[in-house]
Amino acid sequence: MKYISILGSTGSIGRQTLDVVREHPDELKVCAITGNNNIELLRQQISEFKPQLCCVMNEEKALMLKNMLTADVKTDIVSGMDGLIEAAEFEKSDIIVTAVSGMIGLKPTIAAIKKHKTIALANKETLVTGGSYIMNLARENNAEILPVDSEHSAIFQSLMANDKKAINKIVLTASGGPFRGRDTEFLKTVTIEDALKHPNWSMGKKITVDSATLMNKGLEVIEAKFLFDVEPERIEVVVHPQSIIHSGIEFADHSTIAQLGLPDMRVPIQFALFYPKRVQNSYKSLSLTEIGNLTFEKPDMEVFKCLRLAFDALDAGGTMPAVLNASNEVCVSLFLNKKISFLDIGNINEKIMLLHTPQKIDSLETILEAEEWTKKTIEKHLHSN
Ligand code: NDP
Ligand code: MG
Repeated sequence: MKYISILGSTGSIGRQTLDVVREHPDELKVCAITGNNNIELLRQQISEFKPQLCCVMNEEKALMLKNMLTADVKTDIVSGMDGLIEAAEFEKSDIIVTAVSGMIGLKPTIAAIKKHKTIALANKETLVTGGSYIMNLARENNAEILPVDSEHSAIFQSLMANDKKAINKIVLTASGGPFRGRDTEFLKTVTIEDALKHPNWSMGKKITVDSATLMNKGLEVIEAKFLFDVEPERIEVVVHPQSIIHSGIEFADHSTIAQLGLPDMRVPIQFALFYPKRVQNSYKSLSLTEIGNLTFEKPDMEVFKCLRLAFDALDAGGTMPAVLNASNEVCVSLFLNKKISFLDIGNINEKIMLLHTPQKIDSLETILEAEEWTKKTIEKHLHSN
């Protein structure tokens, strides 16, 4: 039996992780779950999975959830960052699925690493902001990091039984999002509803907007650089609208190994939970003849400048990727609250990066200070406009 904590069990990845648990009740057991606002769903998850611990980030909602539970429920309800860390460090858990969205995932992930836990990493913001600091910490603590993001899972799988020192390039595929092929003129008028219509994947709002700006692919470039220790020049982003080839690696001998599958996040989630075992499930089989065509294009980094900014942030190094990530989190939230336009996201990210002098990351504090600096600088920028 493998015991797991799911940070963000009410979100898209969290719910799909629970689906994987449903599929394998004799092999997987959930010990701890966490959410932020969705206490009705947490109540249902407690009743179905009977975890020992449940953290509700929002303290008021934690009290409300306690009042909703019947006396026979044995789950401990905790709240706030301390509660989230308790779920991440939960003694009985072998694997921690980090499925919260945003930089909030950083502290609990660090806590889990320090307790030598295996991390099933969905929260890409952790590696984007913490980079080599997180990777070194994981190495020092013998904590394995297994990617859940479909592209990184594909790269990880393509590396299995292959020579890690003989990578020519990583081929990172992207669906292109709902605005693939569009120009800047078109993007001036797009709405939140347009941005939330992803062609292939059903995901949380933040990452869906990031997929529309191609910031998601940018964050994934940064994530790939740190996870696989490959220079950015060796990461090629290829737009592949069908999302069947989830990414791959070209090796020194010009042989490319890639991983294919239908777009279903439960597959990479299951892979991380059972690694290195391959186990049966009831999911749909891939039929290449049904798919018919697989096509590929170059991404347009002028129109979708967020992708270019990710490469620029890696070039600048230090805290620059953390600043780009923090700026983007603020901008996406402003966009979702109708305070800025779709194109403003990339434009503000670019301005904030120009104002930042990158610092070397040697502690969690450096990353959190960069986040604080970014938030304040965006506020000043918005007031002066
Ligand atoms: P969702 O928005 O669907 O879910 C986010 C989860 O985090 C929810 O459980 C939410 O709680 C919780 N949460 C949100 N804000 C806070 C906070 N401040 N403190 C504590 N918990 C919080 O996101 P996704 O599942 O789509 O994405 C999660 C992560 O996985 C992201 O980092 C994303 O980039 C990554 N990812 C997602 C993929 C996908 O297919 N969805 C694919 C690859 C990576 P509540 O709902 O209760 O408010
Ligand atoms: Mg992805």
